[in-house]
Amino acid sequence: MVSKKLAPFGTTIFSEMTSYAQEHGAINLSQGFPDFDAPSEILENAVRALRSGQNQYARSMGYQPLVEALSEKIQQHYKLKYDPYTELVVCSGATEAMASTFLGLLNPGDEVVFFEPYYDSYPACAAIAGAVGRYYTLRFPDFSIDFKELEKCFSRRTRLLVLNTPHNPTGKVFTQAELEGIAALCEKHDTVVAADEVYEHLTYDGAKHVPIASIPGMRERTLTISSAAKTFSLTGWKVGWASGPAQLIAAVQAAHQFLTFAVATPFQAAIAMVLQSDNSEYYRKLREQYLERRDLLLKALKETGFRVSVPAGTYYILADFTRLLDCDDRAFARYLVKQCKVAAIPPSVFYTRDPSEGKRLVRFAFCKKIETLSEAALNLKNLAV
Ligand code: PMP
Ligand code: GLN
Repeated sequence: MVSKKLAPFGTTIFSEMTSYAQEHGAINLSQGFPDFDAPSEILENAVRALRSGQNQYARSMGYQPLVEALSEKIQQHYKLKYDPYTELVVCSGATEAMASTFLGLLNPGDEVVFFEPYYDSYPACAAIAGAVGRYYTLRFPDFSIDFKELEKCFSRRTRLLVLNTPHNPTGKVFTQAELEGIAALCEKHDTVVAADEVYEHLTYDGAKHVPIASIPGMRERTLTISSAAKTFSLTGWKVGWASGPAQLIAAVQAAHQFLTFAVATPFQAAIAMVLQSDNSEYYRKLREQYLERRDLLLKALKETGFRVSVPAGTYYILADFTRLLDCDDRAFARYLVKQCKVAAIPPSVFYTRDPSEGKRLVRFAFCKKIETLSEAALNLKNLAV
């Protein structure tokens, strides 16, 4: 029954592993959602919005106070100016912002450059748009870029490059020099960048998130996408946004108006209210708490015998399990659930060009309470060599 375009993509690995974890009563370090609540102040904002009658369709491009607050926040953080009414659009999460980008910008046969491993919705949405993917493989454990090889992914048909930094699932934070290299290729090949920056506030060990839109010459060809999901621990609210020059935003809006039209008004209002105050202390604490969680899980994984790549950003750790068991990532993820009651993501589904690269790796999410991670660490001892 499923269309030819979507049939190859099957069921997302996030739903598959979360169900498997639930079936076996395992600690779920697979799907990236926090097992703790968002700041109560934001929840109260939503209640106030609901009770004060903000329950009808919002403005399609975004609830006015939210786009105004976003424009202000982006300017404060990155010194990038976006007009709240023509250069911002609020979507149903970063996922819909990416989908609207593909659908609004791409024609059948256009090519899109992706870094793999990728977030799984990108190739599926590019396929819905009839576009063709070209893939550059980031290799464990340092995920460095050979720009000569990267350039081979470009052709006369390249329309878009998708950049996700900080990067899920590797935890890589692209450096200024790497962003400049990517920017140079995109200018040379007249390519638009869709920059998924949902983990913009989650960086560690002095790594700094640099939006590619801030590289000279790039603002005009970049759509930057972010979301409240990771920053405010609100993955269930699905409030995301895209910022960019008016012409590109008009293309995103052309799709967004027909996909969802608008995003839930009270949730937009609640995010607007929190963004109206200074959150620098909140962002600092968020990073500090995630650093503690990251280090706890890294230590447990190393002691178990995994080879890990230390993530400079996001809330994921990619780990090589070859010293522990001779099998592929899917078999290992199932073994881990059965043996230790810990669920992780087998990442080979995040590769198109070279899935073998993901077959010796698993991805653990550390967006969980310290108690949850400590329990997982204890369970992992069942695996130790
Ligand atoms: N992009 C990346 C890189 C992600 O990891 C995720 C997962 N949460 C999303 C987008 C989806 O964000 P949202 O929930 O806002 O749709
Ligand atoms: N972004 C989260 C992850 O990578 C969740 C994605 C999802 O459930 N679709 O785990």
